[in-house]
Amino acid sequence: MNPNASEKRYEHVIESLNFLYEKHRCCDEGTLATYIPELSKADPSWFGIALADVDGKVLEFGNSQIEFTIQSVSKPFIFGAALDVLGRDEVLKRVGVEPSGDSFNGIEFQKGERPYNAMINPGAILATSLIPGSTANEKISRILDILSKAAGRHLTIDENTYRSESETGHRNRAIGHLLRNLNLLEQDIDEVLEAYFRQCSVLVNTRDLAVMGATLANMGVNPITGESVFGIDTVRDVLSVMFSCGMYDFAGEWAFRVGIPAKSGVSGGLVAVVNRQFGLGIFSPRLDPMGNTVRGVRICTDFSEQNGLHAFNFTNVGSRFVESTWARTGN
Ligand code: GLN
Repeated sequence: MNPNASEKRYEHVIESLNFLYEKHRCCDEGTLATYIPELSKADPSWFGIALADVDGKVLEFGNSQIEFTIQSVSKPFIFGAALDVLGRDEVLKRVGVEPSGDSFNGIEFQKGERPYNAMINPGAILATSLIPGSTANEKISRILDILSKAAGRHLTIDENTYRSESETGHRNRAIGHLLRNLNLLEQDIDEVLEAYFRQCSVLVNTRDLAVMGATLANMGVNPITGESVFGIDTVRDVLSVMFSCGMYDFAGEWAFRVGIPAKSGVSGGLVAVVNRQFGLGIFSPRLDPMGNTVRGVRICTDFSEQNGLHAFNFTNVGSRFVESTWARTGN
């Protein structure tokens, strides 16, 4: 494709995201998360959008460079890392792929045996336990490595948020002990929890979320660094669970209305992945009652609607792989 044509194809996307940025900038609905005291210090007006496509092009709007803690947006990536290390069968013995219909910190287990899925706290803590390493330090260095490779830059931990969460994380500790009680993990649960709290406290910006999403969209290969981060079977499994379980107790509604695999977090981050096309990152700390970023949900809803991105929309152009196969075979 000639360079002008390649720049031209972004014009519509830039226009569309600029429009949505302006449309939702004045929205002040929702509240900051306060149950982790450090999160209540966020400026509620922060608002960033970034889109990274599988060709490595990145578009940024608003406060896309402000750093915040990744929180639950880390969950699909750590689930992916566990799948890559242990394989699907071993992981699925310990954590399901079923939406729970409940909040992210709900204390309940599928048939009383294993966490419903790895996008909510019980399954996410279990996934962290599956990352190699017997101490929190060993695990977190693997976790930082994976998240950094997906983002394409060296990520660090916000020590204040980590301490804040560790000092107040009694509910997550209760979940950890229940996992132990169900014989789903044999490790020192305090080490697993400290690794999980640090995992949630990894600092990212909106651009990072977009690139991490693009890494999933690009079959596990970071489109900017060219580094392979996840296996292709893992990507399929991760996107499937994001599609059905990524938005807490709004997940079914999200799949129905937006139709794009996504994951949100309590600091106001959201990553959405349009397979084989792009990752979309949004950051806006005001949350709805389910814990999803209000502006993030609205932008994705509008962006999907306007561009026909719902997975089952007849206007969805679908996989580039199929497109290129068609071009190659001519039928
Ligand atoms: N660190 C948070 C917790 O475990 C993550 C939750 C979230 O982002 N929804 O409570």
